[in-house]
Amino acid sequence: MIIIQCPCCGEDRHEEELTFGGEAEIIRPLEPAAVSDQVWTDYLYFRANPKGTHHEQWCCSGGCGQWFKVARDTVTHEVLEVVKFDKGLSA
Ligand SMILES: [Zn+2]
Repeated sequence: MIIIQCPCCGEDRHEEELTFGGEAEIIRPLEPAAVSDQVWTDYLYFRANPKGTHHEQWCCSGGCGQWFKVARDTVTHEVLEVVKFDKGLSA
């Protein structure tokens, strides 16, 4: 079970109270029409799937409703770092 302390409301949330939003820090090209098909395809479909530390975005959907970022070990599910959405992860 994954338990994450929301950095916005400070409450511990079980994974049933959270919404997983996939990999964090995926940046949409500012001008989609100006990028190549490969760049657009990479943005839409390709995500990291590491064995180990992964940067993810989660929503405190059972609580305050805010999105935040998490560094999590995909093997052990250990939560390494949690930050508000406008902050960068260092783990
Ligand atoms: Zn919250």
